[in-house]
Amino acid sequence: MAFEGLSERLQKTFSKLRGKGKVTEADVREMMREVRLALLEADVNFDVTKTFIKTVRERAIGSEVLDSLTPAQQVIKIVNEELTKIMGSQAVLLNKADKIPTIVMMVGLQGAGKTTSAGKLARYLKEEQKARPLFIAADVYRPAAIEQLKTIGQQLDVPVYDEGTQHNPVDIVQNGLQKAADDKNDYVLIDTAGRLEIDDQLMDELSQIKAIAHPKEILLVVDSMTGQAATHVAEGFNERLDITGVILTKLDGDTRGGAALSIRSVTGKPIKFIGSGEKLDALEVFHPDRMANRILGMGDMMTLIEKAQKDYDEKQAEELTRKMQENNFDFNDFVDQLDQVQKMGPMDEIMKMIPGMANNPALQNVKMDPQDLEHLKAIVYSMTPQERQNPDLLNPSRRRRLASGAGRPIQEVNRMIKQFKQMQTMMQKMSKGNFNGMDQMMGG
Ligand code: GDP
Repeated sequence: MAFEGLSERLQKTFSKLRGKGKVTEADVREMMREVRLALLEADVNFDVTKTFIKTVRERAIGSEVLDSLTPAQQVIKIVNEELTKIMGSQAVLLNKADKIPTIVMMVGLQGAGKTTSAGKLARYLKEEQKARPLFIAADVYRPAAIEQLKTIGQQLDVPVYDEGTQHNPVDIVQNGLQKAADDKNDYVLIDTAGRLEIDDQLMDELSQIKAIAHPKEILLVVDSMTGQAATHVAEGFNERLDITGVILTKLDGDTRGGAALSIRSVTGKPIKFIGSGEKLDALEVFHPDRMANRILGMGDMMTLIEKAQKDYDEKQAEELTRKMQENNFDFNDFVDQLDQVQKMGPMDEIMKMIPGMANNPALQNVKMDPQDLEHLKAIVYSMTPQERQNPDLLNPSRRRRLASGAGRPIQEVNRMIKQFKQMQTMMQKMSKGNFNGMDQMMGG
């Protein structure tokens, strides 16, 4: 995930303040020097860094921190607030036209992830708004781009308007819009051509498309892996096209993340979405506050909860609640729960969203192995139906049988049964309205 380096450095810097009863002005200055280096190293734009440091330093030298009993927390709070601010404070949602269709023009350099992001956006709109989008394939210079869009269209069941590679993109867009009007599509997503770098010919073509399409949104797709260049690209496109927002892609990769922190300040335009993977569901609305929390290792409970809600099967949830109330939670439910967790995504990504876990040194070298969950399931599958419903039956000889059936060490079987019993106890407490059980789970 992005920001690992920055996150680590910032937290190391702040940890020096921890435990200090009093913080002096000299401490703050020293710390801000380190924060400055950390930001520059993460590829944050120079001017953005400078302004940020100045603001935080001024606030941190004020009485808010120096007189506080918990200076370290106060400093982190200020850094968090200011990070959030430079990223734009609030999430900015997609604009919608007063009458259909809402026209969205996707622009960006080649390889930034334009076509993929157009697909992700269509999927998002279908899911969130039950929208009926139409793609227009206006990248006529790269035949593969049209094929790629058609493949995505097929996957999502979204129609693609194209005229191959022999026609003028401006005409194609015109005809595509007519098609959308005929078919009453509520969104039109125009996939435009990219180049390896910004050039006049490309900008002229995009300007012409803009002039006839009157898009409600011009979304610039930029690759966060390109570091400082991402910010320059954003400036260039914004000057020529007056973009309405940015989709920042490849934040799942090993990017230092500077673009996320610079683009808003430099262009004045919001990052609306971030891309976090190659698959079509890897698009998230960009929430500056949540991102600041992630950077500071405070986790991202909101995204985690939303993920859980989205992937959670309502019926199963109701069933589970009933079982908890009736005190009937058994190993079959346990396996269902494991399945739900697996659906949410790779375990190590999920863990990082839990506050305190992101940069928890104890977890640094722990690689969550998807196999672990499979092993737990294998143990349950080795149980008889009676054993699944009643773990008390599991005496030592039965446990040995499970271990050999699942091909796992006996210690693992014992540990799992113990955890299961703890979980059962916790659920009983929670179903009686005693949520202290949660603390026990979090604390281990
Ligand atoms: P375009 O030339 O701008 O249309 O770029 P494409 O949509 O063809 O994407 C270029 C490459 O980047 C493809 O291999 C995509 O799978 C990949 N890609 C796009 N978005 C993301 C993302 O958010 N994360 C990752 N890891 N890869 C992405």
